[in-house]
Amino acid sequence: MSAATKRTVAGQADAARGRLDLHRVTKAYGQGRFSKTVVEDCSLAIEPGRLNVMIGPSGCGKSTLLRLIAGFDRPDAGAVTVDGSPVRGPSSDRLMVFQESALFDWMTVYENVAFALRAAGRSSRDIEPLATDVLERVGLATFGEKYPGQLSGGMQRRVELARALINDPAVMLLDEPFRGLDAMTKGLMQEYFLRLYADNPRTVVFVTTEIDEALLIADRLIILSNAPARVRRMMDIDLPRPRSAATLYEDDRANDIKREAIDILHEEARKSFRGALGDSLARSKDAS
Ligand code: ADP
Ligand code: MG
Repeated sequence: MSAATKRTVAGQADAARGRLDLHRVTKAYGQGRFSKTVVEDCSLAIEPGRLNVMIGPSGCGKSTLLRLIAGFDRPDAGAVTVDGSPVRGPSSDRLMVFQESALFDWMTVYENVAFALRAAGRSSRDIEPLATDVLERVGLATFGEKYPGQLSGGMQRRVELARALINDPAVMLLDEPFRGLDAMTKGLMQEYFLRLYADNPRTVVFVTTEIDEALLIADRLIILSNAPARVRRMMDIDLPRPRSAATLYEDDRANDIKREAIDILHEEARKSFRGALGDSLARSKDAS
C-alpha cells in the first residue's frame, strides 16, 4: 500500500510515535552583553499520542520551546529528541500551526492545503484524494476554490489545521492557534479542535496563555516558569470528556486544578514584574 493510500484510509499518525524529550535544554538569543537566556536547563518528557498543553506567562519562552521542538532553532546546550533521534531541523513529521495566519492570500484554500505536498514533488493525482479528505475533515469540503480573504477567522484557522493534517505528522505543535478570535468563535474552534483530535489522535503540544482553554483541551498540563523557561509543574488533567466551558465551570475538581494552576502562574508572572519593573511594584502586587 502506498503511503498516500494508507494515509487516506487511516488518516492518523501512528499513535506509538511522537515521543518528545528535552534534555537540559538551554537557548539564548543575542551576543555578548545583549545575550538573553530564554530557556535554561529545561527538561521535559512528552509521551506519544496525548494532548499536552503548555502554559506560562507571556514572554516566558513558550514559542521558543516550540521552535526548538519543530527544529526551526537549535539549542545552545542540551538535546531535543523525537522518538530517541535528535532533532536536526524542521520535518513534515513535526508541524507547527502558528498564532498568526500563515496562509497564502493569493492561493485558493485547496492550493494552500496542497502546497506542502506539491513542494515535496507529489503529483496532482496523488494529492487530490488527500486534500479532499482533509478539507472534509475540517468541514471545508465546499470551500476549496475560495481564497483565504473570503473566509471568516475561524474558517481560516481550520484551513491552517487542514494544511498541517495533510502531512499526517506524528507531532503537531500549536502556538496559541486561536488567539485573536472573538470569544464565540474561539469557543467553537476549541470544541471543533477536540472533535478533530478524537478522530486524528497524535502527539500535540498546544501553547496557550489562558487557563480555561488549557483545562478544556489538556490531557496533561505543563506549567512553565517565568523566563528563562523551565518546567514548573506537570499536571495530569484526568477530567472526563467531552468537556465544555459549562461542565468545567460546575466541576469542583476542575476548579481545584484551575486554582492551583493560577496560583503558580501568578507567582511566576509576579517574578517577571519584579524583573521588569523593580521590587516596589512586585511588593505592592504581593500585598494585594
Ligand atoms: P512566549 O512565546 O512565551 O511569549 P517567546 O518564546 O516568544 O515567549 O520569547 C521569549 C523571549 O525571547 C522574549 O523575551 C523574546 O523577546 C525573546 N526572543 C524570542 N525570539 C527571539 C529572537 N529571535 N531574537 C531575540 N530575542 C528573541
Ligand atoms: Mg509566543
